[in-house]
Amino acid sequence: MTALAAALPPSSALSMARGACPALSAPMLTGDGYLSRVALTDGVTPAQLSALCTLSKAHGNGILDITARGNLQVRGLTVASAELLEQAVRSLALPLREGLAVEWSPLAGLDPAETTDPRTLGEAIIASARVFEGQLAPKLSVVLESGGQIRLDHLLADIRLSALSIKGDTFWRLTLGGTAATGRTLGVVSDRDAAEVTQALLSHLAELGPRARARDIEPAHLPASLLEKVTPVEPSVTAISPAPFGLFALEREHHALRLALAFGQVTAETLHRLVDKAGALGVTHLRPAPNHALIAFAPEPVCRELLAMAEDEGFITSTGDPLADMSACPGAPACQSGRIETHALGRFAADQASGLFDGSLHLHISGCAKGCAHPTPASLTFAAMEDATHLVFAGKTTDTPLKRLAPRTEAAALTALSALLRLERQPGETSRDCLQRLGPERIAAALV
Ligand code: SF4
Repeated sequence: MTALAAALPPSSALSMARGACPALSAPMLTGDGYLSRVALTDGVTPAQLSALCTLSKAHGNGILDITARGNLQVRGLTVASAELLEQAVRSLALPLREGLAVEWSPLAGLDPAETTDPRTLGEAIIASARVFEGQLAPKLSVVLESGGQIRLDHLLADIRLSALSIKGDTFWRLTLGGTAATGRTLGVVSDRDAAEVTQALLSHLAELGPRARARDIEPAHLPASLLEKVTPVEPSVTAISPAPFGLFALEREHHALRLALAFGQVTAETLHRLVDKAGALGVTHLRPAPNHALIAFAPEPVCRELLAMAEDEGFITSTGDPLADMSACPGAPACQSGRIETHALGRFAADQASGLFDGSLHLHISGCAKGCAHPTPASLTFAAMEDATHLVFAGKTTDTPLKRLAPRTEAAALTALSALLRLERQPGETSRDCLQRLGPERIAAALV
């Protein structure tokens, strides 16, 4: 029996359960078939990524995702084809991450601006977590924030270790739950103790049960042997800013190019073309990265040439692209639960309502209430329900809408919102601040 067959739960459990997490050995049922996740700890060669594109067409529907946390996903699988995919992927000798999700910068070890290289600590945490297999919540994650040009401050993490340099020595600020801005600060640990303290926290979570998350931890109940290694400090104020696109200068005269997938998805054909070109140009490695990004590692002229091709192929290559400020799930017709064509509406917003997007506002378009593409609040959310599309301001798909839109009037609402901003925006005011000032009633009135 393969690892996949052994891991498959009864079919009723393969539903789109909240709290579940897809993996290569545990595909998850979605609206367009089963989905398998290929999580990586390092970059892969162009040949390896090309092979994954081929496999996604051979076994799935030829659609690939890069998720908000930077994981590659193959969509449109059956139970049988997911098993074949797993066997084929395991033969590619990829740097697969299995078990606990421990995440660090995709530029780790190469970024001259990072405080420290987090990989040794990350690998130690992954190794030490193996003893807790099956005892921890499936979505539990550890984030190592080591500073540098691509930050992970915005990622939710059960346990976050943020590197500090104090008089030449490395320490880690330890926070529980939330983002870097909202997590609960426990204190500071030395680099020497960081892996052991993290293991002790994982052990505590395992004792609390397989649904426990770090937000459930009561610091007073943590073992004294753990707390004595943590020096209490005041919470820090962390400003979270989006990662830039384009070129990054790295160590040893290498460069990286960061681009992103519109709506976090790409066809195997498009990705294959880009990756084949990357290989021919001399790109050494490619790495899926947080915020639906793909990073190519190569000398500067190669990165520039690949950037031009990525633009032509429709990848997001600059923060000025409205698609960079949007999340949309597959929606209709790709997902059986989808009630609106989310990607078409998103492209309409980018083309016809681009005045909304000045970098301050995030638009979430969801084919149903589940909100797969953006589970957290967004500035504006369109969520298609049974008989109407809910327009939610500063909330999630399930929050009270400021307006219930009749079917097929979503595009008109976007146009009206863009016109409202054109009329009402005060000098220097951002889109989000303007909508905030106007308030739900004024916005709803403009949509009549
Ligand atoms: S949110 Fe989108 S992808 Fe998720 S189930 Fe609903 S329609 Fe399908």
